[in-house]
Amino acid sequence: MRYEAPDTAEGAVALLSGAPGDARILAGGTDLLVQMRADILDPALIVDIKKIKETRAVTEEKGGWRIGAAVTGAELKEHPTLKKVWPGVIEAANLIGSTQVQGRATMGGNLCNGSPAADSVPALIAAGAVASIAGPNGRRDLPVEDVMLGPRKLALQKGEFVLSFLLPARPPRSSDAYLRFIPRTEMDIAVVGAGVSLSVEAAGTITAARVSLGAVAARVLLVPAAAQAIIGSRLDRPAQDRLEAAARAVCAPIDDKRGTIEFRIQVAGVLTRRAALIALDRARTA
Ligand SMILES: Cc1cc2nc3c(=O)[nH]c(=O)nc-3n(C[C@H](O)[C@H](O)[C@H](O)COP(=O)(O)OP(=O)(O)OC[C@H]3O[C@@H](n4cnc5c(N)ncnc54)[C@H](O)[C@@H]3O)c2cc1C
Repeated sequence: MRYEAPDTAEGAVALLSGAPGDARILAGGTDLLVQMRADILDPALIVDIKKIKETRAVTEEKGGWRIGAAVTGAELKEHPTLKKVWPGVIEAANLIGSTQVQGRATMGGNLCNGSPAADSVPALIAAGAVASIAGPNGRRDLPVEDVMLGPRKLALQKGEFVLSFLLPARPPRSSDAYLRFIPRTEMDIAVVGAGVSLSVEAAGTITAARVSLGAVAARVLLVPAAAQAIIGSRLDRPAQDRLEAAARAVCAPIDDKRGTIEFRIQVAGVLTRRAALIALDRARTA
């Protein structure tokens, strides 16, 4: 196995493009190394992206925030501004693993591991985050909801990797929230995850919203019908009922020892409603 740590995106792309056999990006390694030790993966080439400056930076851009794909959860938590602007994204990233895992795990790795239960992905999708992808044909942008196609299946071509995420500029009185259900209090995989981002006008009516659900289908879902159910409302009880129904309607979950199909569908509605109420509360004072 060959290990490389280039210091430019172009260098990483050249390595990935020219590699015979399986080539893998290494960010925090909290999925990759576990899967290699378990003999699930045996890459011929590992390309560590942490020496590429853009993957490690958090910068303001066009009124929004660009977060490098290799910034860790612990670093996001310490950022002076991000937690105020995107509390849902930061709380989702900080649900990943333990304190030790937090020091390594990245949102790029969380997305590109390709798990439908990845915690930061519903929050990124609700936020309207766009992934910047470097590849043999230069750079391209892809909404996060279009990056994951199914379990372990990504829309990335050979030679491509995620360089960063752009969280867009947002109007005043906007906020977000992420909630997950796990059978234990921590260190577990989401049985359901729900992310909601929304904006309200001064009188409290919701003017824009995005809703995303994890662990209820083969990929993390953007749920436009759930957003439509609450736009124009003040999230009164009828709007909450519409939101729950729209969230449940898109669920096609697996049935396993951690949650039956019926349970996951029920919880998806409840968590979406609760996440929306938290996001609304935050947005009123944002
Ligand atoms: C003890 C433990 C607890 C965990 N708890 C949780 C949890 O609560 N919630 C949760 O969602 N996950 C959890 N995980 C899984 C894991 O920590 C996360 O998915 C993490 O975000 C992965 O990030 P990483 O930087 O370590 O990725 P890596 O392991 O470096 O990479 C993961 C995969 O993505 C690819 N990759 C990484 N970065 C890129 C990129 N920029 N472009 C293209 N491909 C890339 C790699 O090649 C690899 O296939 C846990 C893992 C452990 C070991």
